[in-house]
Formats: sequence, structure tokens, C-alpha cells
Amino acid sequence: MKLRFPMAKAQLIHIEVDRRLGHEWDEWNGRPLPKGGDFSAAPGLFFWFAALTIVAVTAALALLLYLVGPRLGGLWRPLPTALWILLGTLTAMQGLYLGVLVASFYAGRNLLPERLLERGPYLTLMNYTSLLARGFGKRDWVEHAAIDIYNTLAERRGRKVGRGELLVLIPRCLSKQALDGVLEVAGRYEVPVFVATRGQLARRVIRERRPRAVVAVACERDMMTGLRDVAGKLPVLGLTMQLPNGPCRDASIDLEQMEKWVQGLVGRAAPQQQAEPAPAP
Ligand code: SF4
Repeated sequence: MKLRFPMAKAQLIHIEVDRRLGHEWDEWNGRPLPKGGDFSAAPGLFFWFAALTIVAVTAALALLLYLVGPRLGGLWRPLPTALWILLGTLTAMQGLYLGVLVASFYAGRNLLPERLLERGPYLTLMNYTSLLARGFGKRDWVEHAAIDIYNTLAERRGRKVGRGELLVLIPRCLSKQALDGVLEVAGRYEVPVFVATRGQLARRVIRERRPRAVVAVACERDMMTGLRDVAGKLPVLGLTMQLPNGPCRDASIDLEQMEKWVQGLVGRAAPQQQAEPAPAP
């Protein structure tokens, strides 16, 4: 009798070579991103998550203090009471800060100097809030709202710099159309453009060129890291992207917004070079 074995079906392993994922997207499952990779969200989403973050951090510290308080009291009796007062004061200050932040945003007027607002504790609040939002699967939307709030506050400062003092940083994942648009805007305003393939490289370019302001383009995840590392030292405006083909490839951007920021920082476009008259025959 002849035995027949079913043919083993070969498994096709498809390796994409034209997409190099940034480490921020390591856990991407390869499926299309929601809403074609547009993570637009209302600013209120960030404010709610920020309030939740403050409550969560306070609750965690209160629980810790409740557990170790009796032991600390054994070392020095007034210590637990002092720590409870400190925790209460810190929580009140955080709540007050969030209140001033919300009021600044909605009142259309920054109520604190930039070192105390968008280029100060706000950057820390953004990062802790992003960590909490990951637990709810809302990371990209909350980060988008956080970056929008940051940009609104930063833009209101009305900063002006020279053409050579502004740096435009773009990622490697822009679509051809978006890249052509960026180069066209940068050419018109005579501002230098750098493609920063990694955050480390972006920081190096900033260190070497020493710009006085930066317009950076990146996805929400990369932008959060960039703002955390750079915005405290240097004024940055951060333009997020849409990712219709998934992360790290063919990203599109709002070129009008980018031009508005460049124009706001350096003034009007450079005068067009007159074409050389053709030599007489
Ligand atoms: S900026 Fe582009 S290349 Fe960098 S992590 Fe985001 S999607 Fe990927």
C-alpha cells in the first residue's frame, strides 16, 4: 500500500525592505493605523489625561506613605505628618499649575513666562501624561493634543529670528510630495533644512549649527522625545504628520502650517532672484 502525505504548505514570509521603523514604533503590528494615521484630537483630551495623571501619581505616593508611614514614625515621630503635609502641598501646586495652564490656553494669553509654561514643567507633565495614556491605548491622540497645546503657547511668544538662525528639521519618512513642498518653502524663505534620521543626529545638528529656533517635523511619538530633549534649551515649533501608509513611510504634512510658522519666525519670503537676461544673439 502506498502512503500519501499531504503536501506541506510553504509559508510566505514577507519582509518589507523599504520601511525602516523608528524604535518608537517597534511594537507596530503591521495593520493600517486608525483614521489613515491622523491622530488629531481636541486639546481637552490632554487636559483630562493630565488631571488623571496628577491624581494617579498622588494616589500612588499616598499609598506608599500610608504603608511606610508607621516605620518612618519609628525613626522620627513627626516625619510622617511632615511628609503628608508635603504631599498635600505638592498636589495643590500641581492642581494650581494645571489650572493656570488651562486658563492660559483658553484665555488666549500666556499667564506665565515660557520657562514656567511650555518650556518648563509643561514638558514633564506632557511626558508623564503620555505614559498614562499608553495604558489606555490613547497615546498618539493624547500626544497630538499635548503638542498642539505646546505649539499654541509657543507661537504666542511671537519670537523673531534671522533666516540663518532658523533650522528646519525633517524626518526621513516624508512622501516625495511633502519633501518637495518642504524644500520649496525652505527655499523661498532661505532657511536651511536637515533630514534627521535619528534623534541623536538631530541633537548633533542642533549642537553644531547652534540655531536660535527650530521648526521640527515628526510623528507624535518622535516629537515627544524631541521636545523633551530640546525644547527646554531652544524654542521649537513641532509639526506632526499624517501616516496614511503606516509609520515611517510616505508621511504627509500640513505645508501651509509649516509656512505660517517659518514666516512668523523669519518674516516675509526672500525676494525672488531675477532671471539672468538671455545674451543677445
Ligand atoms: S518621524 Fe517618521 S521615521 Fe521617525 S519614528 Fe516617526 S514615523 Fe518613523
